[in-house]
Amino acid sequence: MIDAMYPNCGPECTKCSLLCKRGDAVDSAFASRLAFMLECMLVDSHGHWNEAARLLDEYKAEWEKVNPSPPTFMGEPMPPERKERLLARLAERESMKPNV
Ligand SMILES: [Zn+2]
Repeated sequence: MIDAMYPNCGPECTKCSLLCKRGDAVDSAFASRLAFMLECMLVDSHGHWNEAARLLDEYKAEWEKVNPSPPTFMGEPMPPERKERLLARLAERESMKPNV
């Protein structure tokens, strides 16, 4: 949906001013869902952990399209073995998600 509304926004966006409209739309689309998920986590953290992680991944993936993260980690170039570990950890987390 956001892709269709803001096809020209992203890392090379020059149409918006300081705050990219696409980024604003991403925040608007996810704010209430994230708040609701937080409430669910407060009620039953174990029962909603995977759901919350998935929603957060979705949110971060949308922002990645607006503002891609640099090929560095906290300003430092990431050594290949460290990047490998990070990717392995992400894959592990992915595999822990329940099948829907
Ligand atoms: Zn924009």
